[in-house]
Amino acid sequence: MPTFPNIRPRRLRLNERVRRLVRENHVTVDDLIYPVFVTYGQGVRREVSSMPGIYNLSIDMLLEEIKKVEELGIPGVIVFGVPEEKDEVGSGAYHPEGIVQQAVRAIKKEYPQLLVITDVCLCEYTSHGHCGLIKNQTVDNDATLELLAATALSHAQAGADMVAPSDMMDGRVAAIRAKLDEAGFTDIPIMAYSAKYASSYYGPFREAAGSTPQFGDRKTYQMDYANGDEAIRETALDIKEGADIVMVKPALAYMDVIRRIKEQFGYPVAAYNVSGEYAMVKAAAKLGWINEKQLVLETMTGFKRAGADIIITYHALEVARWLREV
Ligand SMILES: [Zn+2]
Repeated sequence: MPTFPNIRPRRLRLNERVRRLVRENHVTVDDLIYPVFVTYGQGVRREVSSMPGIYNLSIDMLLEEIKKVEELGIPGVIVFGVPEEKDEVGSGAYHPEGIVQQAVRAIKKEYPQLLVITDVCLCEYTSHGHCGLIKNQTVDNDATLELLAATALSHAQAGADMVAPSDMMDGRVAAIRAKLDEAGFTDIPIMAYSAKYASSYYGPFREAAGSTPQFGDRKTYQMDYANGDEAIRETALDIKEGADIVMVKPALAYMDVIRRIKEQFGYPVAAYNVSGEYAMVKAAAKLGWINEKQLVLETMTGFKRAGADIIITYHALEVARWLREV
């Protein structure tokens, strides 16, 4: 093995042209998915206080936001609903006139090309804030599956291009796949939140979506953040059940999980750069403690290097703009 002075790694860092030539990973606009929060009413554009630049939007305002997404060439959005009313069984999640179903129809009417992915879960629609039906103070897995499948089907019927179950119930991908296929939606892909951890990084999202659990926590269904092998088992199950894309959420503290899943399965992997990750950047930027643009682009490139094919991020609009500048 030749070594110094024959080998000088710094030669390939000599200037930007050389660095460009040997650069291994690139973030492009094609990698991005922008999460949006749609709510009831008209003319509503309510900023989430812990997520500057992110809003609860009524459908009319959402369409304006989506105009930007289209202009920037971002492939798609993932839609979360903030309903007017909640109940024990989360009926707003699967009602044909639910907020997400209405929003999807409106988006697809105006922007038929845009990839519209819907989050499939019950927690934004249940009065108790859990991701499924409650029985004996805990979430009843099997009874929840039917409602999740009904939710996914109602999204597909409204025109969604892809569904993304985020509940972490056992067997949900199979239940959704069967329901979609039975109704003739065999071409609708499932992006499964496969390795979704119980995380403190979700705090700002729960404010945005009004989905804080009213009792207990989500640790009986979301994963323990200490576990890596379990993420492999969860992902293997989702793929077996028919997931087309698998997701790791959150992203920043779970780069190793992204890498392991990519290497193990060779499936398209989505990294969800979550609300708490976004909020930390925005807070530090506001204080002038970091260079926001450079830091965010570094983080996005890190996701790619870890093995992510898709990055779901609240920074999507600004990243798309910054990529045009460089
Ligand atoms: Zn949920």
